Amino acid sequence: MAQFPPLQDSFGRQVTYLRLSVTDRCDLRCQYCMSNKMQFLPKSDLLSYEELQFLCEAFIRRGVHKIRISGGEPLVRKDVMQLIAGLGQLLDNSGLQELTLTSNATQLPKHATALVECGVRRVNVSLDTLDKDTFARLSRRDALHDTLAGIDAALEAGLKVKINTVALKNYNQAELPHLIDWAHQRGMDISIIETMPMGFIDEDRFEQYMPLLPLQEKLVQRLAMQPSDHRTGGPATYFLRPETGRHVGFITPLTNNFCAGCNRVRVTCTGEIYTCLGQDGKMDLRQAIQSFDETVLQEKLDEALLAKPKGHDFEITKSDAAPATQRHMSVTGG
Ligand code: SAM
Ligand code: SF4
Repeated sequence: MAQFPPLQDSFGRQVTYLRLSVTDRCDLRCQYCMSNKMQFLPKSDLLSYEELQFLCEAFIRRGVHKIRISGGEPLVRKDVMQLIAGLGQLLDNSGLQELTLTSNATQLPKHATALVECGVRRVNVSLDTLDKDTFARLSRRDALHDTLAGIDAALEAGLKVKINTVALKNYNQAELPHLIDWAHQRGMDISIIETMPMGFIDEDRFEQYMPLLPLQEKLVQRLAMQPSDHRTGGPATYFLRPETGRHVGFITPLTNNFCAGCNRVRVTCTGEIYTCLGQDGKMDLRQAIQSFDETVLQEKLDEALLAKPKGHDFEITKSDAAPATQRHMSVTGG
């Protein structure tokens, strides 16, 4: 097998983390993520699991050691455990050190045990509220019970769960301290995330947007938290809450740009690579993947990396709440 050098962009940033979206579909319709009338990709356009496995192996040979499966909701794609099992086989013997996923947890009661058997150790679960009615209004589905059952199933199966919560002025602002307490009482860390202007949605993003730095200051004081050097390879700044021994992370792409340390790329379920979350620039890898020609695919990866932008320019203001990208977050999986 040919040796390939580590994947590096033109700013010297090495890419070690692949986020792979396996479907753009979802069983929820979160107000900040999707519009109510989403046009989903025809299922016939999706790359097969064999093709996705080939792609992941090509990335691993370039120094990627962490893969996160995402979506849409990854666990709604038919037979997705087949792919996760295949990737799990690569753990420890190929350079892949971590296989994980981001999920809304509704399908975790069915899959949590199998995930552990495949070598998954940690999952990120998105949960924005513990209030049944707010959940239904926010996700347009009455599914809080399913998400909570999924979290319980994951914990019971021995998965480490981190909660991700998007801070939304018009939905969960007042509830955030309670969510932190709830997560910590169950032994879970939690990250609070600023909403990003990705894709057209039905609501006014300015009405949703809550700048996080002022909230971070208040929460750090109120919960007597201390700065922490805890890192998960991502953009969160963590604080430790000594009272619970658990962390609260803040992900602030708008108020505090974190692009200088970017170590990741994203590939969609149809084989498009996006080298920046906040830009629409992409390259189509589909043909190279489907031909199973590793040399061609590796050349394409190098080409894509050379075009990786320095950073995003997300902004949400009253006069300009237009999306920074045409695509929704669900296309690339966060
Ligand atoms: N369905 C899965 C879930 O919700 O965890 C995985 C895909 S979802 C697109 C990945 C993450 O992106 C979730 O944590 C979600 O809250 C977040 N997200 C979606 N749209 C967003 C936006 N416009 N701004 C910030 N985060 C967003
Ligand atoms: Fe679905 Fe996740 Fe988007 Fe919510 S955030 S609509 S759960 S993809």
